[in-house]
Amino acid sequence: MKRKAGFLVAIILALFLFMPTQANAVAGGPVVVHAAEITVEEAVMQAMALYMNYGLDQNAAFLRVQAILPQLLQQPSNVAQIVANDLITLQTNLLAQQQAAALQAQQAAALQAQQQAAALQAQQAAALQAQQQAAALQAQQQYAAALQAQQQYAAALQAQQAAALQAQQEMLRAQAAAQGTVTYIGNKNSGIFHYPFCSSVAKMANHNKVFFYGGRSEPATYYRPCKICNP
Ligand SMILES: [Zn+2]
Repeated sequence: MKRKAGFLVAIILALFLFMPTQANAVAGGPVVVHAAEITVEEAVMQAMALYMNYGLDQNAAFLRVQAILPQLLQQPSNVAQIVANDLITLQTNLLAQQQAAALQAQQAAALQAQQQAAALQAQQAAALQAQQQAAALQAQQQYAAALQAQQQYAAALQAQQAAALQAQQEMLRAQAAAQGTVTYIGNKNSGIFHYPFCSSVAKMANHNKVFFYGGRSEPATYYRPCKICNP
């Protein structure tokens, strides 16, 4: 059996080389299939012709004949039916391949749509984040502005309080002056006391002045006497 198959493959190879003229022979009209008993060699030639008539090229037809060779060995007279069955199988396989390709294309399109949706979602998330950051920045700026306003208010209040204190001191000095004649003037800063007419008094800051209306003993208790006016 194996020996016979090897012999037939050798025949097919020989036919393959011989085929151009054979193909020309069948190109003109329909292939004649004999109903009577035929040899395996004749069956192989007819099968090649049938495949090429169907549209297969020499290489493809040769491969198909190899595939159906076991059947041709058993029933060479059924070559037409064997080739027809093989062509149906071929078509079925082709259709299955096309369906698989279509399904794959569909899946690829679905995947692409999914990826596009994901990209859009990511874009929206980024936009939302940017919006949130902008809102946070605005809130921060508003807080800074409020803080500045508060600081300005505190500074204004402090200035007001300082002015009120100065007015009070001036009022107190005025009251003291109204009570009587100033006899001595002490300097809070230097710790020295003077006569009111001393040249140092003119240079003294008002807020450092302490006024005395009585005798020398009171200023002398807290201050040292000036060495210019010698009080
Ligand atoms: Zn003095």
